Amino acid sequence: MNILDIISKKRDGKELSGEEIRFFVEGYTSGSVTDYQAAALVMAVFINGMSDREITDLTLAMANSGEVLDLSKLGENVVDKHSTGGIGDKITLILMPVIAALGVPVAKMSGRGLGFTGGTVDKLESIPGYNTQISVDELVSNVQKIGICLMGQTLNLAPADKKLYALRDSIGCVESIPLIASSIMSKKIAAGANKIVLEVTVGNGAFMKNVDDARKLSETMINIGKLAGKEVVCVLTNMDEPLGYSIGNTLEVIEAVEALQGDMDEDVKQVVLELGSYMIKLAGKGDNIDENKKRMMDCIDSGLAYMKFLELIENQGGDVTYINDESKFENAKFIYPVLSEASGYVKSIKAETLGKISCELGAGRIRKEDIIDNQVGLIINKKIGDKVEKGEILGIIHANDESKLKCAIEELRSCFEICDELVEKPSVILEIIE
Ligand code: URA
Repeated sequence: MNILDIISKKRDGKELSGEEIRFFVEGYTSGSVTDYQAAALVMAVFINGMSDREITDLTLAMANSGEVLDLSKLGENVVDKHSTGGIGDKITLILMPVIAALGVPVAKMSGRGLGFTGGTVDKLESIPGYNTQISVDELVSNVQKIGICLMGQTLNLAPADKKLYALRDSIGCVESIPLIASSIMSKKIAAGANKIVLEVTVGNGAFMKNVDDARKLSETMINIGKLAGKEVVCVLTNMDEPLGYSIGNTLEVIEAVEALQGDMDEDVKQVVLELGSYMIKLAGKGDNIDENKKRMMDCIDSGLAYMKFLELIENQGGDVTYINDESKFENAKFIYPVLSEASGYVKSIKAETLGKISCELGAGRIRKEDIIDNQVGLIINKKIGDKVEKGEILGIIHANDESKLKCAIEELRSCFEICDELVEKPSVILEIIE
């Protein structure tokens, strides 16, 4: 078998065998297939697509290219969740303690952020003392002890995907449904869960810009799951505006704490309840989705979810005094409100640009090695459909650098489109695909 024949076959629109796909993935991981050969094959896949069988073979080859987490000691019902990417996405921090408090084991490895979408690990590390770099044995024993562990990727999970994703990014081949589906599912399979709830975001702040593409991506991932013996549910959510009101690491932790104390933005609440109710169902702890949502709300209202969050933070070395008194988190040097220059209703918000502004302030990494600034970010005061008066606050910039603050002011104002007519609030949950 040789890579030239494999590239030519896909270039000519033919179906690759499982053996050929494994030959490519193993060769690219080890370095015997070069970047330019991989780029040619990826471009051929981008243009000609892949069959469901090819996509599954690619997913499994990437999942098996590194270590695979074995969570069998925790039983059959470990459920993972994943989002295809959102702005201000602090859902994991809120959702996981709630379902853990309801008896669903949570053993989750999360990533760091790169570019304008933040990573759960970065958010957790903004809590002084919280240790995300623990071993798999500690992961298992934490879950056995308190039912929940949130950690970083200390295993070498799906290295082929890491290499291919960076390559795709550099040759304009990210937006391909077979490649996105196999990339996401390879990481989830390597992370050990048998049951997975996927939040597929749709809108200007997401990879999928419309519902049709999001549906195709979801169906592809569900199919991979079926062929790989994993149960998958996809929840399509709107990402035309940020989730909740904060973007940035400490700011999002504070929002998550307030949410767990019962003060939760409506859009965040809908996403938390929808994803959680399906996670409870997949874990075999309740088939009635409405009933599951009610149990989740009761768990938040009674303080049990918040107590579970405190237990998680304490168990992983975090200083819970910051959680109990959020004023202990140090503020950024400059806190600057940006005012509206017009009256009317918010018609649209450039969610992706808000993510980029926050990243430029220092909340995200432009390069992998960048050090992030936990204090900086944005508070969004107006969402789509809100009434706004001239002079009212649209958003608040938290910055540590005066020149970055100055750049952000006009950029933030330009993210809000204000019109004269009433605007309906967008639906948050768009569709469920099982
Ligand atoms: N997220 C991933 O993990 N992979 C992709 O290809 C796109 C989004």
